[in-house]
Amino acid sequence: MNRMLEARNLHKSYILPRASWLEQRARIAAVRDVSLHVHAGETLGIVGESGSGKSTLARLLMALEPPDSGMLLWQGEDVTALTAAELRARRHGIQMVFQDPYGSLDPRMRILDTVAEPLDVAETGLTREDRRARVADILERVGLNADMLARYPHQFSGGQRQRIAIARALITRPRILVADEPASALDVSIQAQILNLLSDLKLEFGLAMVFISHDLGIVRYLADRMMVMQHGFVVEEGETERVFTAPEHPYTRALIAAMPKLTTE
Ligand code: ADP
Ligand code: MG
Repeated sequence: MNRMLEARNLHKSYILPRASWLEQRARIAAVRDVSLHVHAGETLGIVGESGSGKSTLARLLMALEPPDSGMLLWQGEDVTALTAAELRARRHGIQMVFQDPYGSLDPRMRILDTVAEPLDVAETGLTREDRRARVADILERVGLNADMLARYPHQFSGGQRQRIAIARALITRPRILVADEPASALDVSIQAQILNLLSDLKLEFGLAMVFISHDLGIVRYLADRMMVMQHGFVVEEGETERVFTAPEHPYTRALIAAMPKLTTE
């Protein structure tokens, strides 16, 4: 099968700032020896507690930061050693949705330009009419009205902003989407809408998706396969239903045991 995204033995550590010059510089290994792959149309869920390295892994997969060591492949191509310009030319194929729908949109930019930004890089030379039509089309597909083009981010709710962020991520028709806790900053009812939207878009676009969450219930609902991270390591991976019904690692069992139970009363 077609590997859209692959990582081999990724490592990333950070040097923490010293509280005083007398102290030793401490190093934190945020991602340790992580390997993964995602096929076309498949969703890989990544779960783990806060601080387990999920967002660092997402930034590595997006090549927003270089790993200390390891290899990254996008659609089979090794992108580990590419220059910034070479990476930029390939970015339209892999896009990301971040956790915070407030911080991820530029408050001074109209929705038209916000959503068109990745398109302006990927497809130079579009006419103004074509550019506008592409933005209107993708806004409608994420459930927003195309008459909102001239508005600014502060005129939208959190859920609408996250839809705008998803529209921006999808406008270049990427093959891979990395979603880092895309709904966890939103109200529960809006969360469900965003998750259903991602699930629909995944089918419609045939997207390979990396879906990161600390919420196991959401990952069970969305992911075909899943990985469990602890202290930067992957401690368990497998088909989602297998992991939930027969978890092998004690940490996975503890996470599942801590899930809120649905009652039938
Ligand atoms: P998660 O997304 O699972 O909550 P993160 O990837 O954000 O985990 O963080 C993993 C670890 O790496 C944490 O201990 C965090 O403090 C540390 N870390 C993440 N980014 C940085 C950074 N830019 N500088 C220093 N430490 C960082
Ligand atoms: Mg995180």
